[in-house]
Amino acid sequence: MAQFVNLVGRRFGKLNVVERAPNHGKHIYYTCKCTCGNLKDIRNDKLLNGQAVNCGCERKRRSDNKYDSRNSKLYHVYISMKQRCFNSKCKSYKNYGARGVSVCNEWVGNNGFENFQKWAVENGYRYDAARGEQTLDRINVAGNYEPRNCRWLTIQAQQNNTTRNKMLSCNGETHNLKEWSIIRNIKYSRILKRYKLGWEPEEILEFKRRKK
Ligand SMILES: [Zn+2]
Repeated sequence: MAQFVNLVGRRFGKLNVVERAPNHGKHIYYTCKCTCGNLKDIRNDKLLNGQAVNCGCERKRRSDNKYDSRNSKLYHVYISMKQRCFNSKCKSYKNYGARGVSVCNEWVGNNGFENFQKWAVENGYRYDAARGEQTLDRINVAGNYEPRNCRWLTIQAQQNNTTRNKMLSCNGETHNLKEWSIIRNIKYSRILKRYKLGWEPEEILEFKRRKK
């Protein structure tokens, strides 16, 4: 039998061990006070092996916001937007960041995503829209990503806006096939063929088709 180690008074992550908890069957439990204020009984081995480092408050908070699966599509749009503008290693940077296109202060920093999300929902973003159906569009293509220069477009609306050009959205950006052909340096005929075959936007715009 393992030697009993008294953990009272010790600290594990955000948990301060207050006292030995009343019997919980065959395991030893401690009542711990989390820095968030919660009291919780936690098994001694979970404290010792590092599995328990808070009362559960951290995990809960995380699932409330950007890591929520409901938001993952929108978060991807958000991250892609920032990559294009700020990450010089991003493929599309030359058409955005390098040309002076930026993201407004409100949408970057600590609450950047939350602010962007709030704007998105208030301006017609739909969580149930199919992938690629809804896209973040800049009204003035030379302008920045900021509330007054952005809007959500559906593929339908974009096709109505243009007569002959086929529009394609990828990672929150929309261009017609001719523009994409220049941006990605892929022959227009190749893009058109892939488009007609019903490939996913990312596949259409990859120079070589990803192996599956
Ligand atoms: Zn807590």
